[in-house]
Amino acid sequence: MRGPALVLALMAITASVQSQVTKQPWGKTADGTAVELYTIKSPEIEAHILTYGGVVQTLKVPDKAGKTGDIVLGFDSIDGYLGNEPYFGAIIGRYGNRIAGGTFTLNGKTYSIPLNDGPDPKHPVNALHGGPKGFDKVVWKAKEIPHGVELTHISPDGDMGFPGTLTTVVRYTVVGKELKIEYSATTDKDTVLNLTNHSYFNLAGQGSGDILKDVVKINASRYTPVDANLIPTGELASVAGTPFDFRKPTAVGARINDNNDQLKKGHGYDHNFVLDSGGGKLSEAAEVYEASSGRVMTVLTDQPGVQFYTGNFLDGTLKGKDAKVYGHRAALCLETQHFPDSPNHPKFPSTELKPGQKYHTVTIFRFSTR
Ligand code: BGC
Repeated sequence: MRGPALVLALMAITASVQSQVTKQPWGKTADGTAVELYTIKSPEIEAHILTYGGVVQTLKVPDKAGKTGDIVLGFDSIDGYLGNEPYFGAIIGRYGNRIAGGTFTLNGKTYSIPLNDGPDPKHPVNALHGGPKGFDKVVWKAKEIPHGVELTHISPDGDMGFPGTLTTVVRYTVVGKELKIEYSATTDKDTVLNLTNHSYFNLAGQGSGDILKDVVKINASRYTPVDANLIPTGELASVAGTPFDFRKPTAVGARINDNNDQLKKGHGYDHNFVLDSGGGKLSEAAEVYEASSGRVMTVLTDQPGVQFYTGNFLDGTLKGKDAKVYGHRAALCLETQHFPDSPNHPKFPSTELKPGQKYHTVTIFRFSTR
């Protein structure tokens, strides 16, 4: 087959695997803004995306027997997301992870982000995930695109203390067994930016217990050790001979309770891994395998780092979808990102964005079974 016939045949194949996109109303925020839920369905997997926070509310993926299960933590209604909850499934911005003291200097000017994080919640010492009202707490403008949904949010100059009007576009698409997240942004003043997604994965099924038996591989020879406030010390430490060595697939629980100063500080894993890819090109960052379901999740990204967080602060007080109680370490997060507190670490890869530049980054969650 050649020429027009080939083109027509390829078009027919593409059309037959085109993912279905539908939307429905999903309640209102406290100020009355309507929220919608987009369902994106390929023949293999299904993602539900909220316009509130850009949240991945549901992710249905088949197990080794072909039975589909929801593998992300979250809530059945908008009220859960409007309450005090730890960023389930949300888009994080403007700055994913921590900024020490909530302050940084750019072009000689100091900027302050309201504090919302620290070892003692009554006395916060860091800005976490963009400050108290980050991109996880806004209603994004949405439109359907082929295989998915495009979310847009314009953050005004000075929003949460950050300089520049920032226009952010996040595209979620589902094709075959992949959920792809494509982030882009532009600014009208020099600024800093670190976008990520904060999905909590439990490959055995959301609410089905802890993730300690999950086998994790992270393609990182180094990680960024932290101080008592979970701020990187600046060192890029070797993982060799430490509980942070996931270069060979290892169960999450194999070393999580080791007598290790870094694990104690994070109450488990809550650390940024320095990906061997160096960032810049889409590469395999991590893989998670869960034996009972046979599900495998491969994370690909062009970012230089990934925060591996083992749900250490989940404590059974949150009740989520299907009335499941989310106990200690009920899920794990792999937040692809630039390193925490980069604006205060000139030696870390830069998170600066200038007018005329386009921020663009891609992360893919690919599913299979074994
Ligand atoms: C942080 C954790 C935090 C969690 C939820 C993660 O990205 O590293 O320390 O508890 O987000 O807020």
